[in-house]
Amino acid sequence: MKNLWSKADAEAAIAKYAAQGVNRDLALRTYTTRLLGGVPELVLHGGGNTSVKTTMKDTLGDDVEVLCVKGSGWDMGVIEPPGLPAVRLEPLRKLYKLDKLSDEDMVNFQRLNLLDAAAPNPSVETLFHAFLPHKFIDHTHANAVLAVSDQANGEELLREIYNGRCAVVPYVMPGFALAKMASEAQKKMPKAEGLVLHKHGIFTWGDNAEEAYARMIEFVSLAEQRLARNRRNVFAPGALPGKLADVAEVAPVLRGLTAIPVDPVDGVYKRWIFEFRSGPAILNFVNGAEVRRYSQSGVITPDHVIRTKEKPLIVPAPEAGKIAEFAAAVKDALAAYDAEYKAYFGRHNPRAVPKKTMLDTVPRVILVPGLGLFAMGKSSKDAKIAADVADNAVRTITDAEAIGKFESVTEADIFDVEYWSLEQAKLGKDAEKPLARQIALVTGAGSGIGAATAAAFAGQGAEVVVVDRDLALAEAVAKKIGGFAVAADVTKASDVRAAFDKACARYGGVDIVVSNAGAAWQGRIGEVDDKTLRDSFELNFFAHQAVAQNAVRVMKAQATGGCLLFNVSKQAVNPGPDFGPYGLPKATTLFLMRQYAVDYGKDGIRSNGINADRVRTGLLTDDMVKSRSKARGLSEHDYMAGNLLGREVKAADVAQAFVALALANKTTGAISTVDGGNIAAALR
Ligand code: ZN
Repeated sequence: MKNLWSKADAEAAIAKYAAQGVNRDLALRTYTTRLLGGVPELVLHGGGNTSVKTTMKDTLGDDVEVLCVKGSGWDMGVIEPPGLPAVRLEPLRKLYKLDKLSDEDMVNFQRLNLLDAAAPNPSVETLFHAFLPHKFIDHTHANAVLAVSDQANGEELLREIYNGRCAVVPYVMPGFALAKMASEAQKKMPKAEGLVLHKHGIFTWGDNAEEAYARMIEFVSLAEQRLARNRRNVFAPGALPGKLADVAEVAPVLRGLTAIPVDPVDGVYKRWIFEFRSGPAILNFVNGAEVRRYSQSGVITPDHVIRTKEKPLIVPAPEAGKIAEFAAAVKDALAAYDAEYKAYFGRHNPRAVPKKTMLDTVPRVILVPGLGLFAMGKSSKDAKIAADVADNAVRTITDAEAIGKFESVTEADIFDVEYWSLEQAKLGKDAEKPLARQIALVTGAGSGIGAATAAAFAGQGAEVVVVDRDLALAEAVAKKIGGFAVAADVTKASDVRAAFDKACARYGGVDIVVSNAGAAWQGRIGEVDDKTLRDSFELNFFAHQAVAQNAVRVMKAQATGGCLLFNVSKQAVNPGPDFGPYGLPKATTLFLMRQYAVDYGKDGIRSNGINADRVRTGLLTDDMVKSRSKARGLSEHDYMAGNLLGREVKAADVAQAFVALALANKTTGAISTVDGGNIAAALR
C-alpha cells in the first residue's frame, strides 16, 4: 500500500480551504480523508470514517472544542469540509459515564450538539472517535486487514503482525458499547498507534494528519506482507459445460426471475437494475469447486450486508442452447434462497427489540460459474455499489483462503447490522420516481425527439440506453442524462441485435423500447424511383420491426411484460402531397404497432404509438422554417403553430407523450397525437 502524502498537496489544501474560511486542522483532515477514500482497497462506498479534534467559533464568537467527524452520506474520496460536521466535543465526552445509550438517543444527542443545525448526521462511529484522546483518527475497512482478521485465529494473527503497536478488540457492533470498549482498550495500551476491530476494520491515530495517515498505510502494508507469505493457490476449479450461454442471454432470465411481483396482472413489478462483473479473480472465485463453502460464509465486514445481503445466490453454469433448463434451475435456487432467508430472519427476530419487519428475500449478488457475478440494485448507481462491494469481497475472501480459512462474524451479528436502523438509513428512503427500476431503450436518441425522449425517461427514473447511428451524438446525450450510449444502424439486423445484447449486458434487460429513428423521403408517388421507396421502407418500417422483434425477445425472457412505443407520424393517416415515400412505411408501422398489441397482449407487452406533426427540433433550421412559412404566405410563427391550438409543438412535448404512454398501464394498441390539433390527421 503506497503512502500518497504530498507536502505540496497538503499545503495547497490548506491554502484552498483557508480561502473558504476553513481552519488548518479541517483542511488537512479533508485532504487525508480524500487520500484514503480514493483507494478502493481501503474504503468503499461509505465504509470508513475519519475525525479531527479542533477549535471553532460558535455563533456567539466563543471558541469551542469540536470533533469534526465524517457525516453520513458523504463519500470519503470526494469529501469537502461540510462533509465533516463539527460536534461539540465536551458533551460527547460526558456520555462516557453512562452505562448504556440507545441508538436513537445517541443520534439525537449528536445532532443537538452540531454547530450547524443543517449538517448531515455525524457517523455512527462518532462516539468511538470522541472517547479516544487523539487529535486525528482514521478508520478504514482495509481488505488486507480484513483478510487476516476474518479467520478463526484472526485475533492471534493480528497481534503477531502488529506486535504491541495496535490494540485488538473482539467484534462488537458499532455504537455506544463499542465506543466505550475501544476507549478502555486504548487506556490499557496507551502507546498503541491504532486499533483493529476484529472482523470489521482498522483505526489509526496521530497528533497530526500525516502521522495518522502514515500509520494506516504502514499497518495495511504489514497485513499485505503477511498475506504474501506462505500463500496457497486457491481455488481448485469445478467442472463447466463445454460451451456457455453469454451474459446478454443470461441477464434477462435472472432479472425476470428476481423481480418482485407487486401486481403482476397489472404488470407492476419491483424490478432490479443489474451490473455484471467478471475477470480472472472473479472467475477463479465463482468457478471454484468449493464455491458453496467459501462464498456462503458471510460478509467480509458487517456493514456490507446492506449492499449484498449476507450471502450471494449461486446458480448453475448456463450451458449454451439450454437456457430453459438454466431458468428452471435458477427458479429453484431462488426458492431455496427465499426459504433460507426467512429461516434466518425467524432465528434472529425473536430477540430483536423492538421486533423487525422482514426485508425482501431477494439476493443482491448472483454468482454464475463460467461467467462472473451480477450485482443488483434499485438503480444502476446502487447496482454498481453492490458490484464494487461484491468484487472486493471476492478478492478479500480469496486472500483469506490463501493463508487459512475465511470466517465472518456470526450470523447473529450480521442480522443485527442488517436490521440496524442506522445502517438501513444509509440506503435512503426517498420515494422512487415513476419509471425507477425500469430500463428504456430509445433509438435515434442522439438528437431531436429521440434525445428529448431519452432525457424525459431518465427524468422519470428509468435507466436509458441511448441508441444512435452516430456514436458521438449518443455519447453526448448519454453523458448528459447518465445513460448508456450504443452505436447502431437500425436498418441492419445485426446492429439491432448487438444493441439489445449490449443493453442486456449493461443493465440486465429492457422494459421499455421507443422505436423512434426515422427520416422523411419525398417524391411524387407515380414517378418516384424504387430505391427511394425501398430505402424509406428500410428505416421507416423494417427497422421498427427489427427493434420490436428484439424487444419482445428480451421481454419474453424476462417474463415481466413490457412496453413498445413507436414514433409513427401524422403521415400514416393524413398523407401530404409528395410525401408518399414517407407516409407509406409509416402507415405500415402504425399497423405494425397494432399487430404487436394483438400478438403480445397475453405476455403483458403493451404496444402504442405517437403521431406527431410539425415538431420544432434542431433538424429544422430557422432558414427552412422561414422559407416554408414564406411559401404559405405566413409569418414564421404561423407555420410552426399552424394547428387548432395555435401552439408550437416541440420535441419535449413528444417526449412527454411517450412517457405518458409508458405509464398508461391499461393502454395498448393506441395512437396519441402531439400536433397541437390537426383534424385532418385525426384517427376515426
Ligand atoms: Zn467501520
